[in-house]
Amino acid sequence: MSADGDTVSRLEAVNASITKAAIDANRDPGDVTLVAVSKTKSAEEIRPVLEAGQRVFGENRVQEAQGKWPGLLADFSDVELRLLGPLQSNKADIAVGLFDVIESIDRPKIAKAIASEMEKQGRSPDLYVQINTGLEPQKAGVAPDEAVAFVAWCRDSLNLTITGLMCIPPVDENPGPHFALLRKLAAEADVGKLSMGMSADYDVAVGFGATSVRVGTAIFGAR
Ligand SMILES: *Cc1c(COP(=O)(O)O)cnc(C)c1O
Repeated sequence: MSADGDTVSRLEAVNASITKAAIDANRDPGDVTLVAVSKTKSAEEIRPVLEAGQRVFGENRVQEAQGKWPGLLADFSDVELRLLGPLQSNKADIAVGLFDVIESIDRPKIAKAIASEMEKQGRSPDLYVQINTGLEPQKAGVAPDEAVAFVAWCRDSLNLTITGLMCIPPVDENPGPHFALLRKLAAEADVGKLSMGMSADYDVAVGFGATSVRVGTAIFGAR
């Protein structure tokens, strides 16, 4: 089988697993969005996944996405692009111009830069706050005990509506408690969307209420 065929059959398998996990959790499978994480993959590798019908994609670097997506968007205009990786304020202009969802808001400086670009460009991507549920020093994200106040500050001081929370649990821990914590914080902050679960644990995340799962390796293969 060609590499493209493998990618498309893996996409179908991931979609089937999401459906099963949702049904097992008494959830509507339509309430879970699959974000295909195409970071490091070329436009040629992404195209067959688009042709198979996948429309929501995640990238973690602004410049990489800026290089490969405009050509693909010319052919597939109904794509939703999500930024999952750390954002620098000097790239806020490109990020606001290119992405439909920015999931990695993690500090006041970034929130301010995004707010001013939204105003300037007249664009309003959905915004998520990244939470460092494991308090890992090397990882981006707002500390769990500051999450509710940060969401409120974005709303009250910047007039920014935060629609979701995102987390990346520590690799060596059971992810369940991290997903449960993210769900609890979202309820406290009155935020509806939960971006959690990756290739290794997206079915677990669906059981904990994920509204979107971010799956790279299980679709595109190893990076
Ligand atoms: C790379 C990445 C993913 C996808 O990881 P896989 O394990 O390949 O599924 C999900 N979320 C974020 C933030 C990422 O950077």
